[in-house]
Amino acid sequence: LIERQVPLAEWPSEFFHAEDNIRKPGLLLGQPIAQGEGLKAAYARGLNQTLAEIDASGLRGRGGAGFKTAAKWRFCAEEAESERYVVCNADEGEPGTFKDRVLLNAFADQVFEGMTLCAAIVGAQHGFLYLRGEYLHLYDKLQTILAHRREAGLLGRGILGRNFDFDIEIRLGAGAYICGEESALIESLEGKSGIPRNRPPYPVTHGYLDKPTVVNNVESFFAAAAIAVHGGGWFAAHGTGKSKGTKILSVSGDCARPGIYEYPFGTPVRTILDDCGAEDVLGAQIGGPSGTFVSNREFDRLLAFEDLATGGSFIVFDNRRNILDIARNFTHFFAHESCGFCTPCRVGTSLLRKQLDKIYDGHGSAGDVAVLDEICRLVKTYSHCGLGQTAANPVLTTLARYPETYESRLKKISYEPGFDLDAELE
Ligand code: NAD
Ligand code: SF4
Repeated sequence: LIERQVPLAEWPSEFFHAEDNIRKPGLLLGQPIAQGEGLKAAYARGLNQTLAEIDASGLRGRGGAGFKTAAKWRFCAEEAESERYVVCNADEGEPGTFKDRVLLNAFADQVFEGMTLCAAIVGAQHGFLYLRGEYLHLYDKLQTILAHRREAGLLGRGILGRNFDFDIEIRLGAGAYICGEESALIESLEGKSGIPRNRPPYPVTHGYLDKPTVVNNVESFFAAAAIAVHGGGWFAAHGTGKSKGTKILSVSGDCARPGIYEYPFGTPVRTILDDCGAEDVLGAQIGGPSGTFVSNREFDRLLAFEDLATGGSFIVFDNRRNILDIARNFTHFFAHESCGFCTPCRVGTSLLRKQLDKIYDGHGSAGDVAVLDEICRLVKTYSHCGLGQTAANPVLTTLARYPETYESRLKKISYEPGFDLDAELE
């Protein structure tokens, strides 16, 4: 198209977000529910029984950490405070993750249904969709869907003719990765800088305006609405012992068919690589930079909280890639996104970046890999929030698998005690 000088406006839409293609719909993507169906089913069954179904489904948080959804909702419902909130975390910032963008583009009504269901169960009056700033293009469309839901009596006062008032407001992020961390997100909702709070207390007891607040990922609400219709057993029949149901993945990188895939938990990495047309694979980054780099000797490992947990990011790297390029790219990302609140992360991620650059550029000498490892452990151990605690993962997971690649970048001549320069020069 560039060679033929086709104006940008005439490019086929597949050129933009080509990875938005839903390549493999499963249990959830394959049978979206109708508007209002989840709420009506929940009221017909009873809200307490519906929470029991969500419990029975084994649904765990789909943002990556996997906390039990029913437990979170129950904790919030049990709080004495009458003012409660529901927040949908759509600040999808993990590199390589875009499934929430697709869910909001194609199935937003079901996501809002899940939020409303949650509000009915926990007794919330107000909800927020915290939308990643870069997803501004979805804003008008989402507002239209909310307006349709109000017209249909599924939002606003007296929902479904019952004594239930609830509405959803969309708030836009401003491009800070840290605002995907739930307590920083809540700070941002309150109009403050996105700096993570100490947890505990968790948002279920002290969230927005210090009131009980459920914060869940887009996919968690999407799944909960379907479970309200089909029941817990329907969902729990898929997956593994500790990871029930399916996971929606954003597959990208060196593969013929990037896009959205839905798999039952327990699916081996190899199956996903085959499906997306990956060849000569060096490895896959699962769970984004804060997750795990899986080398081509580990493709029998499983997509599951028991093995490889992921918020949805699955990035393929083929053999043309250099492992240090990958680790360096992610390390720069974290140093850039550190919010700067705590010293171990603010200083540590910069030191990590500099130390890795030194080795990468061939200026490292004996002992520099050990120093790199030491900085990683300090940042991981002493940082205040999840960003710092996982910022060293790209180096740690690649260093554990490819120590020789790191060592091979060190200067061959060094002046360590006992070093014999004459012998070296001979
Ligand atoms: P976490 O384990 O601390 O908490 C997970 C959820 O459970 C939170 O909502 C928390 O409030 C709740 N929770 C935990 N213990 C609780 C308790 N005792 N009582 C009540 N509620 C409790 O994890 P986290 O730091 O919130 O999130 C880290 C995850 O986020 C990682 O797995 C990471 O991969 C993922 N992540 C996802 C994205 C993305 O774009 N989806 C981006 C960055 C990171
Ligand atoms: Fe901010 Fe990093 Fe500290 Fe988290 S660990 S509070 S992102 S400086």
